[in-house]
Amino acid sequence: MIFSNNFDLTSLGQLPDRGLQDLENTPIQISQSLLKDLGKETFCPRRLYESYILGKRTDAEEGTALHKGVCFEYFINESTGVGGKKPHIPTKKGGEMPVDYQRLKQQAHFLNSTVLPYYNFETYLDDVELTTEFKCDELPHPIFVRGRLDRLAFRDGKLCVIDFKATADIDNEYALQAWRSPSTMDHTQAYLYMWLFIRNKDYNSHGYIPDFYYFVFEWGPKSDYTIIQVKWEQSKFREVERSIIDGYNKMIDLHQKKWPKDPSYYECKDCPIKNVCDSRKIVKDIKIVQ
Ligand code: SF4
Repeated sequence: MIFSNNFDLTSLGQLPDRGLQDLENTPIQISQSLLKDLGKETFCPRRLYESYILGKRTDAEEGTALHKGVCFEYFINESTGVGGKKPHIPTKKGGEMPVDYQRLKQQAHFLNSTVLPYYNFETYLDDVELTTEFKCDELPHPIFVRGRLDRLAFRDGKLCVIDFKATADIDNEYALQAWRSPSTMDHTQAYLYMWLFIRNKDYNSHGYIPDFYYFVFEWGPKSDYTIIQVKWEQSKFREVERSIIDGYNKMIDLHQKKWPKDPSYYECKDCPIKNVCDSRKIVKDIKIVQ
């Protein structure tokens, strides 16, 4: 059991809809997206509860960045992603795809036919789910850490992890991920995935340290792309493990606070219970300057 039951979970208001028993028996699985969410300046704890404890998902709406990213992966390797469903590719009245999707399909073809061979990448496996049990003195019990790698590949005989990204504009300095200046980015995902792979005995019985690459392609009119390699260092073991422990402790703290709602336009937009939540915020906050 992950949580202590020394407080009344039935007082969670309209939650939990799967019942007290389920919540207590549902272990927290730490993932890179959970760690990123917990690291945000503000977030809605109830959304995290719904997404990461109850496992509810928000289907990517057509036209959104999330949906374009899902379609890009499908164009690359027919990946059906986490949900295991082929994404619906939108078409216009004449039957052709909207221009952003057309560009992503062309980008996927360019990636497969030109970029990967040019750099000597050979695909090994796609859509690799990794889960590891993590124990340490600072945790009351073992916890599970998971990740889904887009691709394992060999480059010049060396194993590497590849993550595919689609973006509107690589040069957008206001975007959450500043792909043009990767040294300023948060690389939680890259290091966590390398850490998971190093520990995985099924794919990596010798504890081999992989390289990690982001392949970032635009759907905007420039159709630009960038490839970023993130290097592992020995100090990353401790950093990754520290962030897992801190993330776990934050989840316990939120549980004790009963997962309060903290609505904001961007949190609510992708929340799995946005259609039933009475606190949903549908307009953006007014920005105040002095
Ligand atoms: S709709 Fe908004 S306020 Fe309600 S749980 Fe989701 S993110 Fe939180």
